[in-house]
Amino acid sequence: MKDRLPEHIEPLRLARSQRLMQGRLPLSRMPRLAESLEDVTGDIDVELEFDVDSSGIAWMKGHLSCSLSLCCQRCMQTLSMPVDTTFKLAMIESEAEIERLGEEYEPLLLNDDLVSVAELVEDELLLSLPIVPKHETEDCNSTDFSDSHNESVPQSEKLTETHSESKQKKNPFAVLADLKRK
Ligand SMILES: [Zn+2]
Repeated sequence: MKDRLPEHIEPLRLARSQRLMQGRLPLSRMPRLAESLEDVTGDIDVELEFDVDSSGIAWMKGHLSCSLSLCCQRCMQTLSMPVDTTFKLAMIESEAEIERLGEEYEPLLLNDDLVSVAELVEDELLLSLPIVPKHETEDCNSTDFSDSHNESVPQSEKLTETHSESKQKKNPFAVLADLKRK
């Protein structure tokens, strides 16, 4: 049986009793995410599963799906982005425990027994946002696709980047050379 989503959860307790929860959260409850959104109407479908693995690590697996209204950075018009993301978090009580986690887990540092479901979901959605939201070329209202050949990084910029990088790498040696001369 699936439980409804409460405001706050006790992840460790839920993992020990192997619970599954399902529900909806309104996008309007996510103030940090709202800063990147054009429109906050709509809900997020949330599914959370809790369990403990064979090595005793308590985990939470989540599945989120929703549609986010972003601002296309090419034509500056609304871009509707479907989000369908999953995550698996291992519950830890100190940062030292991060090292013993397998690669399948992201750490969830518990400062408190209680965790806000909305904040947790908001964190995961923030991670799923593209750095530069853009329509697909054929859906975009902009007529300027001069940057579309090379994933938004023009050749000249790439060269400058490489140049400044190699300059930075040289610096420590230059400093050493200066020291030797003294
Ligand atoms: Zn666009």
